[in-house]
Amino acid sequence: MFGLTEEQESLRREVRAFAAKEVAPHVSEWDESSIFPAAVVRQMGQMGLMGVIFPEELGGAGLGYVEYVLAIEELSRVDGSVGIIVASHNSLCTNHIMLGGDDAQRKRWIPKLAGGEWLGAWGLTEPGSGSDAGGMRTTAVRKGDGWVLNGSKTFITNGTYANCAVVLALTDREKGTHGGISAFLVEKGMAGFRPGKKENKLGLRASDTAELILEDCFVPADHLLGVEGAGFKDAMRVLDGGRISIAALSLGIARGALDAALKYATQRRQFGKAISDFQGVQFKLATMATELDAAWLLTMRAARMKDAGQKVTLEASMAKLYASEVACRICDEGVQIHGGYGFIKDYPAEKFYRDVKLCTIGEGTSEIQRIVIARELLKNV
Ligand SMILES: Cc1cc2nc3c(=O)[nH]c(=O)nc-3n(C[C@H](O)[C@H](O)[C@H](O)COP(=O)(O)OP(=O)(O)OC[C@H]3O[C@@H](n4cnc5c(N)ncnc54)[C@H](O)[C@@H]3O)c2cc1C
Repeated sequence: MFGLTEEQESLRREVRAFAAKEVAPHVSEWDESSIFPAAVVRQMGQMGLMGVIFPEELGGAGLGYVEYVLAIEELSRVDGSVGIIVASHNSLCTNHIMLGGDDAQRKRWIPKLAGGEWLGAWGLTEPGSGSDAGGMRTTAVRKGDGWVLNGSKTFITNGTYANCAVVLALTDREKGTHGGISAFLVEKGMAGFRPGKKENKLGLRASDTAELILEDCFVPADHLLGVEGAGFKDAMRVLDGGRISIAALSLGIARGALDAALKYATQRRQFGKAISDFQGVQFKLATMATELDAAWLLTMRAARMKDAGQKVTLEASMAKLYASEVACRICDEGVQIHGGYGFIKDYPAEKFYRDVKLCTIGEGTSEIQRIVIARELLKNV
């Protein structure tokens, strides 16, 4: 693929082979029964995929966002659920500790997460605050040598199975998003912290999406990540990287849908020919492939800039917006090319169609991406 090094191509082949062997045979069963692929998560930890973007001295693979995109794309090509598990663990939970935590906190928690010993979750969204994340109601109040957290987080990926979660809470209601929100690391087993309702979803059904409940949950002072009041700003920086991973998730699901459509179009015969002989079908395939490559290039631009240490707020939002919307169109056309067979579970098209929709919603809806992009554009006018 364009512009990749031999090492990057090799990683891509390795993840592709892993997904074909360990994930593909189980995809339908996991989807149908909403089974969380715990054994695969453990294997991915051994392969370094649970710590792709973290330095080797902290137990990570020491790679960058380009490799991270390739890994998530290859996993999601087979099963988007596996892709989102890896994405939220790496670029939301662990990366918040990396960006917002101090040295001692990084050394304490990142090796466990990056090595796959622990699974992580990240809780920003609440029942009453999604796009308007700053409108959160979860509070953290100082008590002795620590904080008492109260509130709930909703739609949290890995929520039921996570060993720890980074949660955002109001530490100063008056200041709100301007220095009044802080991030805390909460560990499984802490009194007053538990997962709540596990969601029954349209797609990505093997991934876990659950509530996190905090009831008079005491966390020691050294569980506040970095400095008090930096939580919201850090969360926005975390999302810059996270959005690249949702672009990668989109690319993978769309690539899977295109592969399936190409295969089906050459096999299915109508009017005495393969349907791929009809120009109407060829035009669909050509548009799908072209838009997918354009989305890939936008995503790689953001990933390369991130690896070069540049600010990527604009580029990550563009990649996420475009890749997710293109992916939805591709999965829709994938079903269309399959005709009635696209609507039944004997073929993979319907699952790609269901899974992909999350990509225009998670880590900021398409509308929010357009707001971010416009804000960045207008900043310097
Ligand atoms: C499967 C799944 C996994 C998730 N994982 C996580 C996770 O791990 N951690 C986490 O914190 N969150 C997670 N989320 C939450 C996700 O980020 C939110 O659902 C998303 O940000 C949208 O928030 P909302 O659902 O409250 O929708 P709302 O904010 O209520 O939006 C509803 C509609 O209004 C539109 N809208 C809102 N404001 C504006 C505006 N200003 N201008 C124009 N349109 C607007 C939105 O675009 C949308 O179309 C997950 C969600 C899902 C479904």
